[in-house]
Amino acid sequence: MTDISPSATSRPIIRLRPKRGRRLAEGAPWIYADEIVTDRRTKALTPGSIATLESDEREPLATVTVNLNSTIIARVLDDDPTAEIDGDWLRAALTRALAHRERLFNAPFYRLVHAEGDGLPGVIIDRFGDAAVIQPNAAWADVMIGDLCDALADVTGVSTIVINAAGRARSLEGLDDESRVERGALDGPVPVTMNGATYMADLIGGQKTGLFFDQRPNHAFAAGLAKGGDVLDVFSHVGGFALAALAGGATSALSVDSSQPALDLAEAGAKAMGVSDSFATMKAQAFDAMRDLADQGRQFDLVVCDPPAFAPSKQALDKGLRAYDRAAKLAASLVKPGGYLVLCSCSHAATSDLFRAACIKGIRAANRSGALIHAGQAGADHPAHYALPETSYLKALFFRL
Ligand code: SAH
Repeated sequence: MTDISPSATSRPIIRLRPKRGRRLAEGAPWIYADEIVTDRRTKALTPGSIATLESDEREPLATVTVNLNSTIIARVLDDDPTAEIDGDWLRAALTRALAHRERLFNAPFYRLVHAEGDGLPGVIIDRFGDAAVIQPNAAWADVMIGDLCDALADVTGVSTIVINAAGRARSLEGLDDESRVERGALDGPVPVTMNGATYMADLIGGQKTGLFFDQRPNHAFAAGLAKGGDVLDVFSHVGGFALAALAGGATSALSVDSSQPALDLAEAGAKAMGVSDSFATMKAQAFDAMRDLADQGRQFDLVVCDPPAFAPSKQALDKGLRAYDRAAKLAASLVKPGGYLVLCSCSHAATSDLFRAACIKGIRAANRSGALIHAGQAGADHPAHYALPETSYLKALFFRL
């Protein structure tokens, strides 16, 4: 145990101001900086400290972790104000998370921990068989990383643990961005079988944790639509939609991405699947590539556009929505009549309604019309916290034009 997590009886106390804690009262596990009394003792707490949260009337409410460097100054770890946050507590949380994934999947490749949705605020853990990647996006997880790795190895049996510190959220918490192999060793990219496709995941040098498990159900739905058709997968990463479509019987797939390493992994995945002949990649800025393909008169039976978050924050919302609208317009122009268009957003600030409106605006601007046939979200290994709408971030809209 680390010394910042003293037992529940002797640990620091933070107190809500009168009439504050609105989101907490709604069930959200977050307390904002202006909601607690920041006296000298609270100000002295090191980031990641474990404390007891009290109401303004000194009634113990919950066990929290405190980080004065973050606008979310405290996050609820346990509704029990006397909970001990130790190895046993972590093992119990990971065991609950694992039980859910073992119901969902028959192979150990999935998001094991989806932060608040799994009761571990700010902690993302993706599992790749014998290896796991942790994104400790909150200070407490950084401080308790040794206990967390021990608990993870105990509960899952993984032998390799990678710490990925590249998440944007870490800078908001005042944390470093150095990724490392914390336990065991990595021997190149890890092959992952999903929806019959093989993806090569680079767990240390790649983007995020190496693979976007969240799109699994949307890859599957798109693959069903792509049978016997030509597919364009824009913002493809390691071939997410393209390789699933080829596994599902698409005639050809073209992956566009600005990252050569991602496209190299996509090629390696296609080779492992034996579909290299029907697979091609194009390294380009997505908007330029879509314009060029349109100029060449190219059209596809299924076009997917799955960009990085264009609206990563509320401040960036308007600009982000305009980018989704532009992407929808360019992508729609590349769909054959009667074909399908898949538009995705992983921006939590762009709500389903706003994103849908931006997509429709773009499709109309391309002089196309169509129907919305399906709306997808992140897979069930990405549980959303019921009181945090921002945790249901992924939208995938399927249109027939
Ligand atoms: N569709 C993928 C996930 C996409 S993640 C899947 O299903 O697995 C977003 C991808 O967009 C990343 O691979 C990133 O390299 C790429 N990207 C970011 N900006 C880009 C740009 N301007 N042009 C092309 N690709 C870009």
